[in-house]
Amino acid sequence: MDKIIIEARVNELAARDENPNVPFLPSEIIRDAKACYDEGASIIHYHGRTATGEAEHDAAFYLQTNAGIRAQCPILVHPTLGYVANDADAMGRFAAVEEMMKRPETAPDFAPMDIGSVNVDWWDPENNTYTTTNLVYENSTETLMHFADRIKHHQLKQYLVSWNISFTRQIEAFMKMGVITEPAIVLLCMTDGTSLAGHPGTPEGLDAHTTFLPKDRNVLWSAMNYKGNLLLLTEKVIKAGGHISIGLGDYPYLELGGTPTNADIIAKVVEQARALGREPATVEETREILQMGTPRIAA
Ligand code: ZN
Repeated sequence: MDKIIIEARVNELAARDENPNVPFLPSEIIRDAKACYDEGASIIHYHGRTATGEAEHDAAFYLQTNAGIRAQCPILVHPTLGYVANDADAMGRFAAVEEMMKRPETAPDFAPMDIGSVNVDWWDPENNTYTTTNLVYENSTETLMHFADRIKHHQLKQYLVSWNISFTRQIEAFMKMGVITEPAIVLLCMTDGTSLAGHPGTPEGLDAHTTFLPKDRNVLWSAMNYKGNLLLLTEKVIKAGGHISIGLGDYPYLELGGTPTNADIIAKVVEQARALGREPATVEETREILQMGTPRIAA
């Protein structure tokens, strides 16, 4: 079977109340990047956070973090554009990436494009009520065109995210327009617990995603479960030839015993993948599989 690409989703906007090992600051993210790389992850995805866990959009955070990761190990870097926490316009949301592209040691390898819009309010399943009522993750077609254009310009890899089938249909449309470069990597977003925005993190939720991937296009897929336990699905993903995006950003993984670190979760996935006949792809192998070029630095 093909090598498996494992991405560490280290923090998102996760709190530390259930698992205190969620990294916030650059030094903590850099430490986790190296630890996850040592266990077999070839990509790190992270969000800027303040010391108290708020979202941090300042470019300086990303410059420091990327340079620190580069100094430690060759893991591929996939920063956020800020998700729903960043309500700037398209140029504003991409501004930190433009800064990152000025020096080779701060340039990322990927930039994300969540190809669609969706309500992402927090659901309280204990009390059957929403705890927020106004969180819309808005990605207009015009905004996505801007991201696609700038990602191509910088010779980064477009990291596509599909929250549901309507996103996947828009990915296919972008492919037909020639806006998305093949091979495309699509992260199939499932959500559970306090998030209803994606497909359920069940075999059926995953099957619905993969059923609608464009069949006549060169598309690879990875799976994640925001606020749910992806380990319940990893065997299916591994056997189906998918890739895996997992970490404390999505879920505290207390089922592993104690309070695991991101590296502990990566080690678990690597062990399972190997037992099922798939070796983790190295950074170089991941670059080959995704046909990644060299970022264009524009000082
Ligand atoms: Zn993220």
